Amino acid sequence: MPSAIAYASKSPTDTLKPFNFERRDPTARDVEIEILFCGVCHSDLHTARNEWQNTVYPCVPGHEIVGRVTRVGSHVSKFKVGDLAAVGCMVDSCQECPNCSQHMEQFCEKGAIFTYNAPDKHTDGGHTFGGYSNSVTVDEAFVLSVPENLDLAATAPLLCAGITTYSPIKRWGIKKGDKVGVVGLGGLGHMALKFAHAFGAKVVLFTTSPGKADDAKRLGADEVVISKNENEMNAHLGSFDFIIDCVSAEHDINIYLNLLKIDGTLTLVGAPEKPLPVSSFSLIFGRKILTGSLIGGIKETQEMLDFCGEHNITSDIEMIDIDYVNTAYDRLLKSDVKYRFVIDMKSLRK
Ligand code: NAP
Ligand code: ZN
Repeated sequence: MPSAIAYASKSPTDTLKPFNFERRDPTARDVEIEILFCGVCHSDLHTARNEWQNTVYPCVPGHEIVGRVTRVGSHVSKFKVGDLAAVGCMVDSCQECPNCSQHMEQFCEKGAIFTYNAPDKHTDGGHTFGGYSNSVTVDEAFVLSVPENLDLAATAPLLCAGITTYSPIKRWGIKKGDKVGVVGLGGLGHMALKFAHAFGAKVVLFTTSPGKADDAKRLGADEVVISKNENEMNAHLGSFDFIIDCVSAEHDINIYLNLLKIDGTLTLVGAPEKPLPVSSFSLIFGRKILTGSLIGGIKETQEMLDFCGEHNITSDIEMIDIDYVNTAYDRLLKSDVKYRFVIDMKSLRK
């Protein structure tokens, strides 16, 4: 079996450090990929530090993977050696339950196999290792094609931050003229701005960081509101069709429910460690809809990548070497990212 190198954390309080393990040889249906770039998602940090209380160690995070195909199994038809390829948050599912059949593998009845921290059927009692690594081997059905015209490093974050914001914006039918709010300008938030703008909405960014206002306008916001300023918030009461909340930490969501129109929708994609209290009055006055969204299925992820290829949409990134990843995590916690860290995997081979 090919030996792999990676960065892993071994406990909730550990920093990420070099780690060696083995990837499987490709089966007939597998694609082996040399990882060139991998994005750093806040979910990686939540998981590495066991904030969701479900981490199995050692933990190799990373689910925004782009690279080049190095080997393919005998039944693989979509990819050949040398092709660009991408892997997002899932590497497998049962592929036959009603949810998988309707292209919602993330809700597989037997449990989607996530790219890291999930039971790995190919190993005896082991778990999956993610993209902070030099290679990955994945069932062809979960490998995505990358538009050739996009910058490869800036494409990596589309595999999670991209699909997680594209999917609810599509599902809730955002169209020209709708008033859309985006809460939190980090990795997910900056992609939500780009997609909502591309779908023709009037877009308002809510941020706790006044210094991000100019960037927000460049990224697609028509207006920027500092969420701690009550007057600025009150000016928008009852006016939004849709708000997408991309915040990684505890915050008050009732103030956003109050900004929705009658029958307006607040979708949570952010996944803070602790529950977020909701007042029933925030919902019953105006029949507000509070919902959530989890990444997106494989078909929709490919649709999103193709949409990005056609509209020239990528992520705004800060490229880092792998040994900077612990500092990158510290900066994520200070909301100091513009707007996605991407690891140049060449640095792992040094
Ligand atoms: P990120 O890059 O760290 O961005 C989070 C942003 O939230 C920050 O930049 C900041 O924006 C805002 N924020 C942080 N702390 C805050 C606080 N205490 N109060 C108010 N706002 C605060 O994180 P990300 O990678 O975009 O991920 C965001 C969340 O989505 C994470 O919880 C992640 O696990 C989750 N996630 C969910 C899915 C899904 O499928 N649902 C997929 C991927 C990630 P401002 O500076 O603008 O205020
Ligand atoms: Zn993610």
